[in-house]
Amino acid sequence: MANIITLKRFFDAHLHLRNGAMLRAVLRHTMRHARYALVMPNTKPQPVLSVDDIIRYRDEIRRARDAINADSCFEPLMSIEIRDNTTPQMIRDARLAGAVAGKIYPVGVTTNSEDGLRDLWSPSMHDTLCAMRDEGMLLLLHGEYDRKNVDVLYREREFLPDLVRLAEMFPDLRIVLEHVSSRKGVATVGALGPNVAATITLHHLLLTQNDVIGNGIRPHHGCNPMPKLFDDREALFLALASESPKFFLGSDSAPHSQEKKECAVGACGVFSAPVLAQRLAMFFNAIGQATTLPNFASRFGTNFYGLPPIEETFDLLEEETLVPDKLDGVVPFLAGTKLAYRYA
Ligand SMILES: [Zn+2]
Repeated sequence: MANIITLKRFFDAHLHLRNGAMLRAVLRHTMRHARYALVMPNTKPQPVLSVDDIIRYRDEIRRARDAINADSCFEPLMSIEIRDNTTPQMIRDARLAGAVAGKIYPVGVTTNSEDGLRDLWSPSMHDTLCAMRDEGMLLLLHGEYDRKNVDVLYREREFLPDLVRLAEMFPDLRIVLEHVSSRKGVATVGALGPNVAATITLHHLLLTQNDVIGNGIRPHHGCNPMPKLFDDREALFLALASESPKFFLGSDSAPHSQEKKECAVGACGVFSAPVLAQRLAMFFNAIGQATTLPNFASRFGTNFYGLPPIEETFDLLEEETLVPDKLDGVVPFLAGTKLAYRYA
């Protein structure tokens, strides 16, 4: 008889579900392990910017969920994208419609961020951030700046002074540095007050720059922020091993079609949802901290967001399985490799 491990369902605090046919195809993977997911607002053609967008997108996700499994306990948590023209009233309206967070993409740093934020320090942005604080909404940051003559590996480091300034200016605003990827980023979040946390992805725990460009160009490992050096990855391990409640799961699972990844200018994003639970279980076993997984994937993020504790569970069966080469037109993370678990 194969071993079964029972895990608390996850809160995936950073997830791209896209929309339309892609949403309907990829959602089922997250539904197998997640109780909640914070759904990113950078959808196309229409990003989530307003109350109408929130309601429309949440309805679309719930309809897709119910079509897959009407008994599912999965609940999407909604966010809006904060742009230069986002007003305090738009924040209050978004909150009323159920959005729990606002996401900032500095202009040009990642997928669909051509219309990202240009000026974090304008007087109107100050008012908008005050409204987020007053409404109890979280501020989620894609913490990179794509500046002239700054190497891709240092884009996160470029952003950190602004993170510190924000955290000190708004000690009562909960701020999340998304997908922290560098030693400096981990240290900065660790040193700031309890209003600042960071999400960590599975792929940044497993990859370094070598896995992207070190042995042939591997488009399915290409993502923002770029996986960094061994030393940076070690800092992520240590952040997890310390069981600091400031570091929790945000998979940043980001599906793109195979054609969009395998071309001259490939899209950035790693589709990790199909392997997330299995590979995280393997990772935490390998570092001898299986008991840390529920804190990282279920408890710390839920606490930071102020959500009810997760009671629901799911089972993994200890049985070797092969990750398929393709799922619904998307190449999943770790395609063609073996996992030690599968869903029971
Ligand atoms: Zn993302």
